[in-house]
Amino acid sequence: MTAGACRLRAGVLSLQGDISEHAGALREAGADDVVRVRRPAELDGVAALVLPGGESTTIGRLLAEYGLDIAIRRRVGEGMPVFGTCAGMILLADEVVDFAQPGLGLLPVRVRRNAYGRQVDSFEVRLEAPKVASAPIEAVFIRAPWVESVGPGVDVLARYEGRVVLCQQDRVLAASFHPELTRDRSLHRYFLSLASA
Ligand code: GLN
Repeated sequence: MTAGACRLRAGVLSLQGDISEHAGALREAGADDVVRVRRPAELDGVAALVLPGGESTTIGRLLAEYGLDIAIRRRVGEGMPVFGTCAGMILLADEVVDFAQPGLGLLPVRVRRNAYGRQVDSFEVRLEAPKVASAPIEAVFIRAPWVESVGPGVDVLARYEGRVVLCQQDRVLAASFHPELTRDRSLHRYFLSLASA
């Protein structure tokens, strides 16, 4: 085996949103290489993909326009792990309450957009997520969605005030909050571990 044969290349969907923060977090969490994904061909060689926070309506529209929705669904179907944070969680969800959202439909959950209020209502908390890390993980909520209900086979990894804010089905991971805006890399490490599992 040549050196570099088992290097882990992660991707960040780079249409809109907090892209560089996730790229930095993935590198700190152990990815050897991080690429920006704007077009389907840029998914080639990516072993794990992050869908960042931002504006889910904008990202969803661009996903469809560039044919990235089809490409991402295909790769996830083949086993590529995907991690959606905030707007990214909305894009992964099968159903968005009271909203016709263009998305990926990769996770059987029902989410409510902007459930935690407006930009000024942003807050930071620590969440117990024993499957991810033994110490509580740091989480920043910014106009965040929450999960109203989860379908069969969805594992709830963390709740905040009773609401599901972190969940997983197979290699699809979704967080209401922004782990990349804290210094805590446990969730990005956990995500990358799905690529090597
Ligand atoms: N409120 C945004 C949306 O619905 C998500 C906000 C975020 O990603 N921080 O798309």
